Amino acid sequence: MSEISTDVAILGGGMVGMALAHQLNERYSDLSITLVDKEPEIGRHSSGRNSGVLHAGIYYPPGSLKAKVCVQGAKRLRAWCEAEGLPVLDCGKVIAPQAVELDSQLELLLERGRANGAEVRLIDYEEFQERVPNGRTASGRALWSPGTCVVKPKIVLQRLEQRLRERGVSFVLGAAVSDVSPDIRQLNLNHSGESSTVSYGHLFNSTGLQADRIAKLFGLGYDCTLLPFKGLYWQLDPRAPFNFSTNLYPVPDLNVPFLGVHVTPSPDGSISLGPTAIPALGRENYRGLDGLEPLMALEFLGDLASQWWRNAGGFRQYAKEQALHGLKPLFLKAAQALVPDLRSEHLIPSQKVGIRAQLYDRRSGTLVQDFRLEHGPSSTHVLNAISPAFTASFSLVDLIINESTLAS
Ligand SMILES: Cc1cc2nc3c(=O)[nH]c(=O)nc-3n(C[C@H](O)[C@H](O)[C@H](O)COP(=O)(O)OP(=O)(O)OC[C@H]3O[C@@H](n4cnc5c(N)ncnc54)[C@H](O)[C@@H]3O)c2cc1C
Repeated sequence: MSEISTDVAILGGGMVGMALAHQLNERYSDLSITLVDKEPEIGRHSSGRNSGVLHAGIYYPPGSLKAKVCVQGAKRLRAWCEAEGLPVLDCGKVIAPQAVELDSQLELLLERGRANGAEVRLIDYEEFQERVPNGRTASGRALWSPGTCVVKPKIVLQRLEQRLRERGVSFVLGAAVSDVSPDIRQLNLNHSGESSTVSYGHLFNSTGLQADRIAKLFGLGYDCTLLPFKGLYWQLDPRAPFNFSTNLYPVPDLNVPFLGVHVTPSPDGSISLGPTAIPALGRENYRGLDGLEPLMALEFLGDLASQWWRNAGGFRQYAKEQALHGLKPLFLKAAQALVPDLRSEHLIPSQKVGIRAQLYDRRSGTLVQDFRLEHGPSSTHVLNAISPAFTASFSLVDLIINESTLAS
């Protein structure tokens, strides 16, 4: 049995946990930092399985935490990747209405983007065609975001891990939390059958898909639970007669926190379509019945059914438009709203699949749209670190550190 004593313990080595370690180390170089992850390597969950798009900050209501941190966070992460010599595809993004009645949403997104400090403008049909010759805009107009870029998420995490190790951050990997004692600031870990304890001064919980469960061990966040939404991708067959040099996104349904099926070019030259946002049957149910959690799945489907009935937060619209995108013909139909000549044979199944750590507020019966922080006496819990938490990570963690009791 080993005993570790550390000033700061970070639970969860996704982008949020890694960025926390990075910023804490920059700010308080004399603090000892220990990062614990239950997996044997970094990047096994959302942060290593996302689209890699560094969002420009367009979608979020001004005043929200997302709006506060996305624009600066994207700039900082991009600058860091460039300084490290990591691949960054400077490709911008077009947002096009997939139905005429969605055209007016372009004005709303334009307003939000500008209020948030993002560079964004309306474009006409001629410019749209130049930027996405194989794309479609239902109304003839679209939005253009020149600052959006795409990175390779796993490579970003690997380089961060290397830099953190060089700067003396300790990593305890393959170690799951078995018990917590907040009153004496201690964690018990189970590490391949061995147990160990971590005594900490302050703890940050950035465990993504498990964050609400960990928060509850600290007596926090009882009014909410996490609902996992699965993001499946397809690859565009390189022989398909299309060329995408920029991201092409639909106008999203702003009642739900999913951006809709989109086309994303990668720095490695491949082009992906997706992700879906379909109910997953477990928080880590990436394939088939792996990670199945029968009770959670039953509860989740019950929650969806009751919200469908009440139509809280636009659930009926979500069910109609997005819940069944796991079926290839329906996925294809959604993608064809943006790329009309796309055919089933152009889509190659992708190995990539991610699950969103989406928080559900039981009191209001709605999906929580913004990031949410919960604070204990010596702990800070990051709930609902959904998109754009990867993009915004460097600025998001500054906000998290500032609001924690560590900074006071
Ligand atoms: C399909 C998909 C596409 C997305 N696209 C984008 C995008 O293009 N741009 C963008 O900005 N965002 C995107 N996102 C969102 C982004 O991926 C997340 O916001 C971000 O990765 C969250 O990071 P995290 O560190 O909170 O979580 P994670 O990356 O999930 O990390 C949590 C870590 O905690 C560990 N952990 C869990 N339980 C325990 C425990 N008990 N003890 C110790 N460790 C534990 C896990 O092993 C994991 O490593 C996307 C998400 C998905 C699912």
